[in-house]
Amino acid sequence: MGLSEYKKKRRFNKTPEPGPEEKTSELGNLFVVQKHRATQLHYDFRLEADGVLKSWAVPKGPPMDPTVKRLAMQVEDHPVDYANFEGVIPEGEYGGGTVMVWDIGVYATETTTSVSRALAKGELKFVMLGKKLKGSFVLVRTRERQWLLMKHKDEYAKEGEDITETQPYSVLTKRTLAEIAEDEGGVVEKAATGDPKKLPRRTGTKRRKKSAKKKVWHSNRG
Ligand code: MN
Repeated sequence: MGLSEYKKKRRFNKTPEPGPEEKTSELGNLFVVQKHRATQLHYDFRLEADGVLKSWAVPKGPPMDPTVKRLAMQVEDHPVDYANFEGVIPEGEYGGGTVMVWDIGVYATETTTSVSRALAKGELKFVMLGKKLKGSFVLVRTRERQWLLMKHKDEYAKEGEDITETQPYSVLTKRTLAEIAEDEGGVVEKAATGDPKKLPRRTGTKRRKKSAKKKVWHSNRG
């Protein structure tokens, strides 16, 4: 696919999203899951392959419950630098709304063929090593851009638990979607933040705001 569709959809003098540059990350096998409150709340599931992030929009988010199948609509490839993007896409721009890095890590295929070959065939079995998502998963194509994302039974599987509810915070900054919107000048819609009503206890380091330095860099770009 490449990044031509990604480029065509965006105005890079208006959005803080990374430009359409193909490259390979240091590790070469990144994955990221971004929680995105646009018109509809969804999770963007991205796997690095061939210099880009292969991407799916997963309305209900990735499952850790092996009895659950989650619809995953394939969308345009994204640049590898997108893996670290957390912030606000201005209203009126493509994908306008708030983006959180919900999980990040590395993955490995469980088959001998390459990722792109497996995807072309419509089935990719892979192991994830993230902060939230761990263990064996499969993506299966059902038609054209429509796929199913499923967790395999293994020691990490959690039957009856929705990990999007129990682990709602950013893995980069510990913030909720509403806090990211608030910090970065986005629209905070109390009823539609995508944050659960009852938030679980925050563990580890405290919520931190983005550094002033990074904010200046963002505003200089725009
Ligand atoms: Mn999205």
